[in-house]
Amino acid sequence: MSILKVARIGHPVVRAAARPVAKGLFRDRLFQKLVDDMRETMIEYDGVGLAAPQIHESLRLAVLQVPGADDRAEEEVPFTVLVNPVVTPLAEETETGWEGCLSVPDLRGLVPRLKSLRLEALDREGKPFSLEAHGFFARVIQHECDHLYGRVYLDRMADLRSLTFIKEFEDHVAKDEE
Ligand SMILES: [Zn+2]
Repeated sequence: MSILKVARIGHPVVRAAARPVAKGLFRDRLFQKLVDDMRETMIEYDGVGLAAPQIHESLRLAVLQVPGADDRAEEEVPFTVLVNPVVTPLAEETETGWEGCLSVPDLRGLVPRLKSLRLEALDREGKPFSLEAHGFFARVIQHECDHLYGRVYLDRMADLRSLTFIKEFEDHVAKDEE
């Protein structure tokens, strides 16, 4: 497995709409290796999700994994692969929370997101699955699915004044929330 190079904002691949994963790709060993490499890259950089455009592959593919130790999470989310995902809101209700992104390094901002959603996607074998997600899990799904349309969390912020460097976040915001 290998750690992949992460594309940052400014690289056109981050802003391009990704193309759907074709049926024939699931049996391709290179596709399966790509999924494994994305997992390794996400873990290496302490991410909870990674979308293929972020590693220069314009495909509707994302991975996510939320460790139980993550204090933003209500629950642990095991390693999950989303291929050609479709998100449907379960309610209109939104909540605001902090997000960061490997393609927008060193920054965090407050982003309103749907509280609950239904996800329909294919797994890494091409098998369809669906699930309901709430809270932080739903937030990660929305963040990763946005990447597949060429969107980053900055586009979703209601007020850019909360944009904060991680160092200043730790010094001021995190301390205040304790
Ligand atoms: Zn991101």
